[in-house]
Amino acid sequence: MKELQVKDKTFAISIPEAKIQEQVRRVAAEICRDYAGEEPLFLPVLNGAFMFAADLLREVTLPCEISFIKLASYQGTQSTGEIREVIGLGKDITGRHVIIVEDIIDSGLTMAHMIETLQLQNPASVAVCSCLVKPDALKVQVPINYCCMEIPNDFIVGYGLDYDGFGRNTRDIYTLIK
Ligand code: 5GP
Ligand code: MG
Repeated sequence: MKELQVKDKTFAISIPEAKIQEQVRRVAAEICRDYAGEEPLFLPVLNGAFMFAADLLREVTLPCEISFIKLASYQGTQSTGEIREVIGLGKDITGRHVIIVEDIIDSGLTMAHMIETLQLQNPASVAVCSCLVKPDALKVQVPINYCCMEIPNDFIVGYGLDYDGFGRNTRDIYTLIK
């Protein structure tokens, strides 16, 4: 079994490159079919989605715009604690068909907040395209319009996803060995 060492942790390959690419092509085809005649605006979320977005968008043949966004976390004044702010959205999304491109949806809290923030700016529609989803970890309901693969509730790295900043630069996806 192919293993990957990232800092103090050992990971084992769980999704090989070929499987990822097959699913990326499937999702890209679905998007092309669903948005035929439209000019969607893709919003990949940095840092994690950079590799997925690069692969996905090479397969999308629609006329489209691509603009990267990032989430900043900070301590809010409310007792709810952490509030995430969408930064880098230097575009007017009014009347646009927006497709958020994410690496992974875990609790769903990040995506729920992002959708809420974008909806305030009156887009024509907001869809979510996530490379990975952990269905058993979802804490809130989020509409996931496109998903390459569902995975168990384990910690993974690779293909853009990091452990403590490292491990993003692999073609395959790896799962932490317990
Ligand atoms: P959520 O708000 O859905 O709980 O969190 C989503 C974010 O948590 C993802 O965008 C990603 O940055 C991080 N995350 C969730 N699960 C994993 C995982 O298994 N591995 C890594 N590296 N990051 C994860
Ligand atoms: Mg992410």
